[in-house]
Amino acid sequence: MTNGAEITMLKSKNSNFLVQKTKGFLKADFHVHTKEDPFDSPYIPYTAKDLIRVAAKKGFTVLSITNHHSVYFSKSIKDYARKKGILLIPGAEARIKGKDVLLINIKKDDLRRIRTLEDLEKLKDSALIIAPHPFFIGYKCLRGYLEKYIDYFHAIEYCHFYTRQLVTPFFSFLNGNTRALKLAKKYKKPLVGTSDAHKLYELNTTYTLINSAKKKDDIIEAVKKNKIKLVTKPMNPVLFFRRTLGCVLKEVIPEGLHLRKRIPEDFQDIFQKI
Ligand SMILES: [Zn+2]
Repeated sequence: MTNGAEITMLKSKNSNFLVQKTKGFLKADFHVHTKEDPFDSPYIPYTAKDLIRVAAKKGFTVLSITNHHSVYFSKSIKDYARKKGILLIPGAEARIKGKDVLLINIKKDDLRRIRTLEDLEKLKDSALIIAPHPFFIGYKCLRGYLEKYIDYFHAIEYCHFYTRQLVTPFFSFLNGNTRALKLAKKYKKPLVGTSDAHKLYELNTTYTLINSAKKKDDIIEAVKKNKIKLVTKPMNPVLFFRRTLGCVLKEVIPEGLHLRKRIPEDFQDIFQKI
């Protein structure tokens, strides 16, 4: 479909189908938020440990917790993940000059050193740098900056946030992934499937299978060399609509207003105390 990137779009809920597809590969998600996120904590009901426990049950073997502009990583959480069969790689969704960038395999000090998109060059060899949801709605999406700084990015995210209707030719212009696919093809960049989960039901919808040994450096190298498969399942349209409504309201309500924190991301739990 793209530069040799293999995309499997799931139609079946049959778990045997998923197991067959993942055999012989590491199952990874490089973009997940947890309760420890300094920006989104009020909207996230699960902790890093909750995430690891659920991800292990769903067969994940590699995870990066990518909270906003912070590296949530310690020996104890790494050991907890290992006991559950998961290799945890430290990561963050950095906010650089107002734009989001996924940095995988970084340290807290690395994050402090990155002030501009040009600074990404300093991390290019050690980290895996991914453009998250680059063409979706929102001031924090990279949009034109991705192509301007394309040499600093190792991979482009294929976001879970779309419906089956949005992959048809007629509506594809409304799908942020359409331009991501085009750019990946143009610059021969791997497409990495992620959940960008803020709710646990988002996990396991879009993810990446990696043909690699279960070692951090090998995994990063395998992604850079595009030895991956993208597995993705479109969202339920009703849920998509609720989430869109939540996102739009958050975009228009100033961050300082208390009301903003009370807007649930999916409107499912609107009557719950947040
Ligand atoms: Zn995110």
